[in-house]
Amino acid sequence: MDFDYDPENLFAKILRGEIPNKTVLETDHALAFHDIAPQAPIHVLVVPKGPYVSLDHFARDASAEEQVGFLSAVSQVCEILGVEAGFRAIANSREHGMQEVPHFHLHILAGRRIGPLVV
Ligand code: IMP
Repeated sequence: MDFDYDPENLFAKILRGEIPNKTVLETDHALAFHDIAPQAPIHVLVVPKGPYVSLDHFARDASAEEQVGFLSAVSQVCEILGVEAGFRAIANSREHGMQEVPHFHLHILAGRRIGPLVV
């Protein structure tokens, strides 16, 4: 399966610094920033810097260094946010996953009990 990456997508523009963001963490491999329309007291998006559309694309095509770097950023973000009580991580993926921005990102939702998974 091929994944067409649009370099003009919103998160590509944020990664290039063309659109401002409320940064939580930036590393060589990822940028984490607050969601503009938070669905929980804590709602942060962790975005790898490479051009991947969705989780399966990232898992298939990103290098081991990029994958480890991304997961390390997730770990650091959880530490920074202080989410010891727990969190939910969501990766909406393409059309049926209702993904709005076609650059892979992980939602980190925390700060209260998030409730049952509703589909
Ligand atoms: P998706 O549906 O998983 O692609 O989620 C995209 C997320 O990006 C949504 O939760 C939006 O609220 C969020 N979003 C859209 N524009 C911005 C922005 O400019 N800064 C931060 N988050 C944004």
